[in-house]
Amino acid sequence: MSDRRLFLKTSAAATTGLALQLLSRRAWALSPGRRGPAPWSATQANPAQASSVAGRVDLRFRQVHLDFHTSEQIRDVGRAFDPERFAAMLKGAAVDSVTCFGRCHHGYIYYDTAKFPERRHPHLTRNLLKEQIDVCHKHDIRVPIYITIQWDRYTVDREPGWRQITASGELQGQKPFEPGFYGRICLNSPYIDFLKAHLAELFEVVPVDGLFLDIVAPQDCACARCTAAMTARAVDASNADARKAFGREVAFGFQRDLTAYIRTLDRSCSIFYNGGHVGPALRPVVGTNKQWVIE
Ligand SMILES: [Zn+2]
Repeated sequence: MSDRRLFLKTSAAATTGLALQLLSRRAWALSPGRRGPAPWSATQANPAQASSVAGRVDLRFRQVHLDFHTSEQIRDVGRAFDPERFAAMLKGAAVDSVTCFGRCHHGYIYYDTAKFPERRHPHLTRNLLKEQIDVCHKHDIRVPIYITIQWDRYTVDREPGWRQITASGELQGQKPFEPGFYGRICLNSPYIDFLKAHLAELFEVVPVDGLFLDIVAPQDCACARCTAAMTARAVDASNADARKAFGREVAFGFQRDLTAYIRTLDRSCSIFYNGGHVGPALRPVVGTNKQWVIE
């Protein structure tokens, strides 16, 4: 079992996602800031405690990432969903882990939410994520939950002040009347407060095997908050290199803070911040991820 975890975990594509996962053992070993025992050591020392120790990550062999970004114009979401048929299809394909959606790039939530009912997809016909998790767990299929981070159309349409601003003073990403959800949110904004409340409720209402936190990358932001923060630290915000270095620390600080917060909610769920690429630039935040997922 431990040898298996050393290497790539195979997976199959669902709609758009093909993910490979590997344990961060080598990356952890390369991390200059590592502290204490290796995160998998508790499992090796006492496999009997594997399911309860903080260091364990229960990656499976065949993992599917089920992309599910659904605009508010799509109706009857989940209407034809048949839990047992869903599980049978996964079992038939030997899938033992499937990432399902908590909140997508359109900003919509796919489970019953009391805290943010306005964000529940307007045409969601059932408590979809909960039903997916329940039937998958019944058949021993793991279900990491997808949560969007920096792309969220619902949020940026209502809170434009949370979007990143370019050095030329424009909204980062897509223009106001363009389709899509490609306007990045600044990680140095009150959005983080929403995100934490959203995650807190998620852990209350569904079992969370893991989190796939999508679109998290170093930012180059000249919004009022970032500019003020740079000025307070004697960083020249007009200097592109200095601004990008600050933006990198903002993103890394966000990951450290959010992982610490998630660990107050759950000690052992898997966590991965997806920025599209996994490479040496991520060494400072190796410890914020539980595993790597390669697109
Ligand atoms: Zn900013």
